[in-house]
Amino acid sequence: MPSATALDALASRSSGLETGEYTRRLAKHGPNRLPEPPKRSPILRFLSHFHNVLIYVLIASAAVTAALQHWVDTGVILAVVIVNAVIGYIQEGRAEQAMDAIRGMLAPRSAVLRDRRRISVDASDLVPGDIVLIEAGDRVPADLRLIEARGIKAEEAILTGESVPVDKGTAPVTEDAALGDRSSMLFSGTLVAAGAGRGVVAATGADTQIGRISGMLGRVETLTTPLVAQMDRFARWLTVFILIVAASLLIYGYFVGHLPFADLFMAVVGLSVAAIPEGLPAVLTITLAVGVQAMARRNAIVRRLPAIETLGSVSVICSDKTGTLTRNEMMVASLAAAGHSYSVGGNGYAPEGAVRWREADAHPDEHAVLMEFARAAGLCNDAMLHAHEAGWRVEGDPMEGALMALAGKITREGGEPFRQWTRTDAIPFDTAHRYMAVLHHDHEDRACIHVKGAPEAVLALCADQRAADGGSQPLDADHWNGMVEDLAAEGQRVIAVAARAVPQDHTILNTADLEGRLTLIGLIGLIDPPRPEAIEAVAECHAAGIRVKMITGDHAATARAIAGMIGLKNHDRVLTGADLEAMDDAALAEAAVQADIFARTSPAHKLRLVTALQSRGLTVAMTGDGVNDAPALKRADAGIAMGLKGSEAAKEAAEFVLADDNFASIAAAVREGRTVYDNIKKVISWTLPTNAGEAMPIIIALFLGMALPITAVQILWVNLVATVTLGLALAFEPSEPGTMRRPPRPRGEALLSGGLLWHVALVSLLFSAAVFGMYTYALDKGHSQELAQTMAMNTIVVLEIFHLFFIRNIHGTSLTWAAARGTRVVWACVIAVTTAQFAVTYMPPLQAVFGTEAVPLFDGLLIVAIGVVFFGLIETEKQMRLTFRSANGAAAG
Ligand code: ADP
Ligand code: MG
Repeated sequence: MPSATALDALASRSSGLETGEYTRRLAKHGPNRLPEPPKRSPILRFLSHFHNVLIYVLIASAAVTAALQHWVDTGVILAVVIVNAVIGYIQEGRAEQAMDAIRGMLAPRSAVLRDRRRISVDASDLVPGDIVLIEAGDRVPADLRLIEARGIKAEEAILTGESVPVDKGTAPVTEDAALGDRSSMLFSGTLVAAGAGRGVVAATGADTQIGRISGMLGRVETLTTPLVAQMDRFARWLTVFILIVAASLLIYGYFVGHLPFADLFMAVVGLSVAAIPEGLPAVLTITLAVGVQAMARRNAIVRRLPAIETLGSVSVICSDKTGTLTRNEMMVASLAAAGHSYSVGGNGYAPEGAVRWREADAHPDEHAVLMEFARAAGLCNDAMLHAHEAGWRVEGDPMEGALMALAGKITREGGEPFRQWTRTDAIPFDTAHRYMAVLHHDHEDRACIHVKGAPEAVLALCADQRAADGGSQPLDADHWNGMVEDLAAEGQRVIAVAARAVPQDHTILNTADLEGRLTLIGLIGLIDPPRPEAIEAVAECHAAGIRVKMITGDHAATARAIAGMIGLKNHDRVLTGADLEAMDDAALAEAAVQADIFARTSPAHKLRLVTALQSRGLTVAMTGDGVNDAPALKRADAGIAMGLKGSEAAKEAAEFVLADDNFASIAAAVREGRTVYDNIKKVISWTLPTNAGEAMPIIIALFLGMALPITAVQILWVNLVATVTLGLALAFEPSEPGTMRRPPRPRGEALLSGGLLWHVALVSLLFSAAVFGMYTYALDKGHSQELAQTMAMNTIVVLEIFHLFFIRNIHGTSLTWAAARGTRVVWACVIAVTTAQFAVTYMPPLQAVFGTEAVPLFDGLLIVAIGVVFFGLIETEKQMRLTFRSANGAAAG
């Protein structure tokens, strides 16, 4: 169908639906969403956590103890099995919650016309008949019949498998055209690679082409990173290893040590459970989930989870200027015409305020050029201004909003001047040519081209300039370049505007209509103040050993002025895109490291810069928003897309999306990234030594044929109650105080380092010494074997608690008030574990089950004292290592 017929068939108009009609259609068609894949039932999900080797071994052990009629042992083993499954279940729930939270924040939005106004809505709010505005970089939100198309190309690989973008237009196609040949349609889920236009929604939700095949698209993301996956594999091999050791011990004890089978079997089961870090993978996943949620709270949304780890090692951040380091709340401050310069007053985007010349109000009747400024600013513009109670707001690009406000100030026609003009054709803005051109006709049969853009780009198109008397005069390029430098040096963003009258039958706009044929009207200077929080964040990054670089399409002088206000390090040296092009790769790598400001760059330069910085071994974070930024975002170690002004294409290429486009959120995300990595390290550094420390006394006793200093059921209990609860607390650890005062972690730093192995050895040695010491001391004192074992068990738990406080500060001392005060999670876990220990030690029914006896007060205090000594030992050992490391660092520096 021709597009007009298609509009009629959908009972719509090119000016969009009215609200009433929209509501009716939404009720009829439902939201524009694909049906969700069915979820597994909670019971099935719970049961799935019983599917693992360790659980099978434990269930078999429970069967053996049951056959031996050791019911208490059977009960405790089954309890271990269930707690394990519960932790796994909680972990899965946490992970899902974290993913859901992100998904909600990444919901795509699209620009539609409703009640004749352009508004931005959730893509799920679209109904058939809606008029949607589309531009390069958008993900098509529904199946659209194009009614206006300028150079649109769509990438339809997900539907047709065709990876080359196809041309789209408004001309109808034959009825039997295959999907890939329906060039008048844009299909939901495909990507607009170039161009701009509008289309009427023809189908939504499950009725779209993608909806019909959506069964294939139910992609599930799991919460894991290379590090956590590696730990998961490590834990599995460790399990196998421990099971083999345990089986050997069983055989050795039975045939060599001649121990009774039932006791020996339980001891071996207890030792296996103690040594195997069964909860580790689950706790690590919770750590990640907590990190993902913390980042989301700070407006950084993680799209690819492995990048969380990378973020902690970032050593350079390359940031956009406009909107990221600055507020992107623009206002026109000055106009420069050939004769006069004007200053512009007003507030925000309100189209009210005075244009002044030499301290007096300038009126368009006396200053004809002002009307020309207004026409260029108002017509060469895709933004709309809406009045709200709280003030005026922009729908569209903030810079264009500011220009629209300027047009309103001059014409005094409010937010929508020049309604009598209709746009016949346009060349959209593109960072490659840096200008935008429009062709308009009005009711009096006048036709006019208006152009706005970067001064160099526009000047190159001009033949002459508007004279003060309204006529034209030769172009004085030097004068204009000087004016540009002056305005830019104040940090203003400078735009040039030009125009040309054309015959009325001219309806198609080509670049040939512009080149060397325009008349320059003048320059417009816009202010865009830096974000105060970005200034702080830049300082924070510098303290954290991270270099911040600004990469902008703006003018060099503007970039330099803003860089000075933001506090970038090397803000005297600016490299422009042209400079970069003149360099070979080696020179570029050197320059990229030295300079901090890059102006008048195009997206291709961004890609070269990332590659150059990476060649120097730096870990690079890079921001971007446009379609053309996608390659640089993909190439960067951490690609960061803008959530508000970023295109869907940029978001999909990025690892992170900033919900508020704010540089401060990048710094916050880096801090969270470092914290997550630290916490992963803490969970591992706490769990492995603790497990080894629990298992070691039993192994020693079995080998030496001594009585067990702690019974098998007791070791199961300790593992069940203490290890799992306490380890979980570390997943919630906040950032350590010095997190952003440390240099970035070197790339590829090994986690299972010699340091950790040494710590495992030291802790298991100290645990064994304490347990045997306490046990022997109790027997010597004349206590019963039961009491001696109870004291040994409590010693292990006390040591674990002190070890927890030690691990909380791996980068600094634990001997501070803040460190001792801990967090609510830590204390909740400690209190829970302590209560459980009191119960098992002093409550008769539990005493009967676990074979414990009440510990006298003095001996209880002695146990705590041993904990203090243990803490003192490992803490001073850490201080010795830290001193050594910083001495090393100082020597290296
Ligand atoms: P930035 O890195 O500051 O966002 P851009 O690459 O978006 O810079 O823009 C580069 C230059 O192109 C700007 O300095 C401005 O002169 C010009 N420009 C930006 N947006 C538009 C637009 N919508 N229409 C015309 N010119 C524009
Ligand atoms: Mg921009």
